[in-house]
Amino acid sequence: MQSTKTTGQWFRSGDGHRWWFDSGALPLDFAYSGAMGDNPAWEILHSADDLAAWLEGRFPEQLMPAAPRDLTDALALRAAIARSAMSAGRGEAPAAEDVDVINLFAATPDIPPALAGGSRQAGRSRARPGQALSAMAREAVELFTPEQRERIRHCAADDCGLVFYDESRSNNRRWCSMKRCGNRAKVRTHRLLNGA
Ligand SMILES: [Zn+2]
Repeated sequence: MQSTKTTGQWFRSGDGHRWWFDSGALPLDFAYSGAMGDNPAWEILHSADDLAAWLEGRFPEQLMPAAPRDLTDALALRAAIARSAMSAGRGEAPAAEDVDVINLFAATPDIPPALAGGSRQAGRSRARPGQALSAMAREAVELFTPEQRERIRHCAADDCGLVFYDESRSNNRRWCSMKRCGNRAKVRTHRLLNGA
């Protein structure tokens, strides 16, 4: 993946404890803004403003405020990405309907790259949120190619279920987060070895 976007976001577990989950890919982070699993506490896109704030944290370009229509679009794209990610986690190809949705968004104009140092005022025109969604969809197109899809996996902890994209060179990431599931597994192994 060629993405230069930073990934990862805060999660809240049932007991109000906050922890950091880096899904490894921008479209997966997007899916985890509320469309993965059935935990309503994970929904963070309640309004168009929430969407704008989320996108602002991911795209360096200045974006115009989001309208309710942008939120509707975003949730449709997000649902398609989330279902595709779950399929990939099971080793399956995404459903044709979801591929269609992702391709539809990817076919609209995204945020054009711009070189600094021109004679016009840089950054004067702001991108529409829809352009950011298009950029998101284009990343999803890359993420769900058969080659990249193999790196989308479930956390190795039986009781976790989180899905991530393994961007490590060695392709051996096992945990959603070392702090969360990785350490719990280590503690368990330790207890077993010590007969506790
Ligand atoms: Zn986990």
